[in-house]
Amino acid sequence: MWYPGHIKKAKSKIKTYLKTVQGVLELVDARAPYASRAYEFEDLFKDKDRIILFNKIDIADEKQLKFWKDYYKSKGYKVLETSLKKVSIKSFLTKVVYKTFPKKFRELRVMVAGIPNVGKSTLINSLKGKKSLRVGNTPGVTKGVQWISVNDNFMLLDTPGILYSDIYNKKILYKLILIGSVKPEDDEKEFAIEYGFNFFKEKYPEILKTALKGDNPPEDYYEFLNMFAKKRNFIKSGNEYDIERAMSTFLKELSDGKFGKVVYDYPEDYEILK
Ligand code: GDP
Repeated sequence: MWYPGHIKKAKSKIKTYLKTVQGVLELVDARAPYASRAYEFEDLFKDKDRIILFNKIDIADEKQLKFWKDYYKSKGYKVLETSLKKVSIKSFLTKVVYKTFPKKFRELRVMVAGIPNVGKSTLINSLKGKKSLRVGNTPGVTKGVQWISVNDNFMLLDTPGILYSDIYNKKILYKLILIGSVKPEDDEKEFAIEYGFNFFKEKYPEILKTALKGDNPPEDYYEFLNMFAKKRNFIKSGNEYDIERAMSTFLKELSDGKFGKVVYDYPEDYEILK
């Protein structure tokens, strides 16, 4: 979970870094385009040019994304989508991202931001390790901050801004657990799976079927976990199914998108959008 201390620290760090950039590239998990972007301190970015990047579209149910893209566009953001795991990141940054930011800057400096697990390090690390691309401290910007140049006029902060979503209801918490952005505590794991199971039964039964290697899912989430454990031979001593292991494995593979494409966010889930 996220503790107030973390949030305070992240917030002050981001505030310092924000002084050195003109733009912010905010990553969201396309499977939860709203829940993964319900920040507590949204106003931090209000003076910056902002792009919202729907990442992981390879594992998102694209037909559900139109509403969310239109929603962000209506709020004045530029919206892009990609799968950072599948594309050439350097070329995506120079050919798409750079061109989407307004052209008023001679040298564009951008912070990459987003909640945990949305792909920030995947993006930044792909540019690292190539010595010639590393520019170190640049005159005129905060000392000690490392920059990575993408091309002659475009640099990224090498420290991504880690944001924390505003978990103001359980549904958001469960969605964030299902996409792997929040590590569940105590019984949250089981509640998130119960939530996910009921959601899949209604909207994406094939996800459950795939998880059960082709078997039809049962009525109840607990029975589902038993079947899942049985399929994988997760047995504890005493010949019982290892439900704990089944839960962890199911969650991990689900968050990695192994069972199929999904979108968890629907406008009717949010009072504020009604
Ligand atoms: P960060 O916490 O925001 O820095 O996220 P990471 O860059 O560490 O990525 C979290 C996980 O998502 C890693 O396992 C990545 O391989 C995976 N990932 C990143 N981008 C994509 C994508 O476009 N598609 C899929 N399927 N996985 C991705």
